[in-house]
Amino acid sequence: MLDQLIDKFHRKITYVRLSVTDRCDFRCIYCMDEKMTFLPRSELLNLEELEWVGRAFVELGVTKIRITGGEPLVRKNILQLFQGLGKLKGLKELVLTTNGSQLEKMAISLKEAGIQRINISLDSLKPARFKKMTRVGKLDKVLRGIDAAIHAGFKGIKINAVILKNRNHDEVIDLVQFAIERGIDITFIEEMPLGVIKEHDRAEAFYSSQQIRDDLTTSFTLLDSTACTDGPSKYYTVKNTDTRVGFISPHTHNFCDTCNRVRVTTEGQLLLCLGKEQSVDLQAVIRAHPHDITALKLAIIQAIAHKPEKHNFDMTAAPQILRYMNRTGG
Ligand code: SAM
Ligand code: SF4
Repeated sequence: MLDQLIDKFHRKITYVRLSVTDRCDFRCIYCMDEKMTFLPRSELLNLEELEWVGRAFVELGVTKIRITGGEPLVRKNILQLFQGLGKLKGLKELVLTTNGSQLEKMAISLKEAGIQRINISLDSLKPARFKKMTRVGKLDKVLRGIDAAIHAGFKGIKINAVILKNRNHDEVIDLVQFAIERGIDITFIEEMPLGVIKEHDRAEAFYSSQQIRDDLTTSFTLLDSTACTDGPSKYYTVKNTDTRVGFISPHTHNFCDTCNRVRVTTEGQLLLCLGKEQSVDLQAVIRAHPHDITALKLAIIQAIAHKPEKHNFDMTAAPQILRYMNRTGG
C-alpha cells in the first residue's frame, strides 16, 4: 500500500486538522448562530476513534496534526487523546487551536501531553466588545490563559483575530502591539462564509487583509518574511521585533495550488477542501471495520484522489457551505 498521500494535482497531503468537538463555551458571531444545535454524542468520534484516525494519517505520511473544534479543551478527557497522538512515530508537529478560556488551568498539562504550539483566538482587547463578539466570553480569563501559555514555554504562540468592519477593525494596531509586547505572533483572518448566521451580513462586514495591512503601516514597518508557512498565511515581520504578522485572505489570495491539508470533522467526515462540500465518511469505515487500520487507510487514499483543485468563496452569494466552522474544524 502507498505510504503517502498525493492528489491528482500532485499536491502532497502532510497536514490534518482534526475537529474533536462541535461544542464550545463561546458563541462567536462569525462562527455560530446564537442558538445552535450540537451533535448527539453517539455521532461524534470517540477518543479512541480520533486517535485511530490520527494514526492512519501518520502512517500515510502526515507529519502535522492540528487539534481544533468547536473548543477542543471543553471535550472531556481530551488530554488522553493528545498523549496518544503525541506518541505516534512520524508525527513531527502536534498543535492546537483554542479560544483560550481553559488555558489558565490547562496550559502546563497541554505542554506535558505533547502539544508543541498553540493558536489562541482573540478578536478584541476591550472587555465589552470581546463579550459582544463571543456573545459570552470573558476577556480577562482569556488574557490570563495567554499568559499561562507563555509561561508554560510553548515553542510558538500565535493570536488569531477575525476582523469585521465596524466591529473590531479599529483594533488591529492594538492587537499587533499586544503581540509585540508578549513576543508572540498574530494572524488576521478574513471572515469566511461558512454556515448561515443572522447576526450580520457577511458581505457588509468584510474587511480585507489589504485594508488591515494599510492600517498597520501607519504604525509599523512590515518586512516581507521569508518564513516558510506551508499554508494560506502570508507573513511579515514587524521591524525591530520578533513578532510576525500573518494574513489569511481566502477571498483575495488564492493559495489552493499549494494546499497540503485536509480536515476531519467531529463526526469523522473527511473534508477534502474547506470551501467545498465533498466529504468521505471515515466513521462508517471505522465502525464497519473495527481495528482494521488497512481499511481506514484505503478509504483515505481513495478519498484524496477526489480532492478538489480549488475553492471559490463568494461573500455576496447565498452561503454555499452550510456547515459551520465549529464542525468544520477551523
Ligand atoms: N474554538 C477554537 C478557537 O476559537 O480558536 C478553535 C475552533 S475555531 C472554529 C478556529 C478558528 O476559526 C478561530 O480562530 C476562529 O476565529 C476562526 N473562525 C471561526 N469562524 C470563522 C469564519 N466564519 N471565518 C473565518 N474564521 C473563522
Ligand atoms: Fe467557539 Fe472557536 Fe467558534 Fe468562537 S470561533 S464559537 S470559540 S469554535
